[in-house]
Amino acid sequence: MYRAIRIHDYGGPEVLKLETLPSPVPGRGEILIRQEAIGVNFIDIYFRTGLYKLPTLPAIPGMEGAGTVLAVGEDVADLVPGDRVAYPTALGGYAECRTIAADRVVPLPPDISSEVAAACMLRGLTVHMLLREVHAVQPGETILVHAAAGGVGLLMCQWARYLGVRMIGVVSTEEKGELARQNGASDILVGYDNLAARVRKLTDGAMVPVVYDSIGKDTFVASLDCLAPRGLMVSYGNASGEITGISVGMLATRGSLYLTRPGLTTYIAQRPALLAGAAELFGLIAQGVLSVRIGQRFALADAAEAQRALEARTTVGSTILVP
Ligand code: NDP
Repeated sequence: MYRAIRIHDYGGPEVLKLETLPSPVPGRGEILIRQEAIGVNFIDIYFRTGLYKLPTLPAIPGMEGAGTVLAVGEDVADLVPGDRVAYPTALGGYAECRTIAADRVVPLPPDISSEVAAACMLRGLTVHMLLREVHAVQPGETILVHAAAGGVGLLMCQWARYLGVRMIGVVSTEEKGELARQNGASDILVGYDNLAARVRKLTDGAMVPVVYDSIGKDTFVASLDCLAPRGLMVSYGNASGEITGISVGMLATRGSLYLTRPGLTTYIAQRPALLAGAAELFGLIAQGVLSVRIGQRFALADAAEAQRALEARTTVGSTILVP
């Protein structure tokens, strides 16, 4: 038997129930992992509320974790019990142990702890996607990034600094601003009001070529207004709610803008892309370029508290559960 958090119905944090379930057995192409750390991501909240639909109910939420292989199923050639692995995007994470397709995990180098891996696989690969693939940022370029002190945000600050990018970070408090600055943000805007006017001032009227917006509903139009002509709006999250009521014409009237809505799952669907992104991420951690900040640790049983904190904007850096 093992303990896991399950959701029977969509709703508030109270729908996250701690349950004891029969131990899973790995099927063909799968492995069984004993999890040592589990990532808590904003996407877990979208799945809990029903903004994103779970494939079935009841379901075990959570997309990210790290631990040790306990058993392997048929046709798994390159992993054996005792190997350390982590994964970025596979539902079923909030559990002491889980099965997962062997081709969705990445072997962990000895210098990456399970806690660090569970705090950076999904968030770090997202930053890799945003800064290297969705738009390959150039040294000297200026970008605008919301929620700069969050899990994704602090890694964006560090990675942007490494790539020579001027990152304007937006945060809700002075304390978060100071943290984002320490992590590499060049400029900080505290609060999301009058964004365009403040960005105009910071850029001497030029505005920015790229905005990375994870807030969604509350900031979508304001973010478009911060772009230079032919700029790129990267809408990659909806922490404030779903974006509705937009028209394609909004892009034309604001200067022939581009809009993309990337999802990490697509970008790492092919195993070579997953392995290459993870290798780059782990390499930058080993070099000291990236330092994964685990701002909050909770027990598995306290998953609801972890999500409440994330929703209430009281967290900084990454949040993990430790079974
Ligand atoms: P964060 O740690 O960044 O937490 C979310 C932050 O968003 C808060 O701390 C807060 O920062 C800010 N925020 C602004 N408005 C709200 C609001 N109304 N409610 C709650 N938070 C708000 O979370 P993650 O690092 O887990 O994720 C960051 C974002 O990236 C999320 O939107 C997530 O969905 C997205 N994401 C997208 C992926 C993709 O593939 N497209 C993959 C991974 C993450 P502040 O107080 O400073 O405003």
